[in-house]
Amino acid sequence: MQDIIDNLPKQAKDKHNENKKFFQKLKKKAPKNLDYIMQDLHEDEFERTDCLKCANCCKTTGPLFTNKDIERISKFLRLKPQQFIAQYLRVDEENDYVLQSVPCTFLGVDNYCSIYDVRPKACREFPHTDRKKFQQIANLTLKNVAICPAAYNIVEAMKKAINS
Ligand code: SF4
Ligand code: SF4
Repeated sequence: MQDIIDNLPKQAKDKHNENKKFFQKLKKKAPKNLDYIMQDLHEDEFERTDCLKCANCCKTTGPLFTNKDIERISKFLRLKPQQFIAQYLRVDEENDYVLQSVPCTFLGVDNYCSIYDVRPKACREFPHTDRKKFQQIANLTLKNVAICPAAYNIVEAMKKAINS
């Protein structure tokens, strides 16, 4: 798995223009059943992918934390929301709460998340490949394919499924 993760930025760079064109076309005219296509591709890929062998998202990019995430996680850690914020978070350029540093503090050496049951919504949904109207997050996906091997594979499969 480490080899795949190490090669991913280059592979994603090589596919960048192709992917960009594909998403531009998709934004203009998406198949009516795109949500279903994505659901299937997402499920197929994650049947094969073991995130515990990867954790590259947790190691290289942090989620943003909504107020609800902060309330839920602070409660779990028995901290006051303000204490949790002071200890773990900072405000980024877009005014969102994000981790002070990556790899994420809550990631264990075994790649388990110590706050898994209460983890941020963004972690639960990453890499967002089963969300509705997937074409609307093209820019984010173009970045995610360089981080997430599953997202990379899903986009490759998607190009084949939709162009065929
Ligand atoms: S979601 Fe993607 S980057 Fe994160 S652990 Fe799973 S395969 Fe790796
Ligand atoms: S909170 Fe958990 S799932 Fe989210 S980035 Fe940290 S370790 Fe990964």
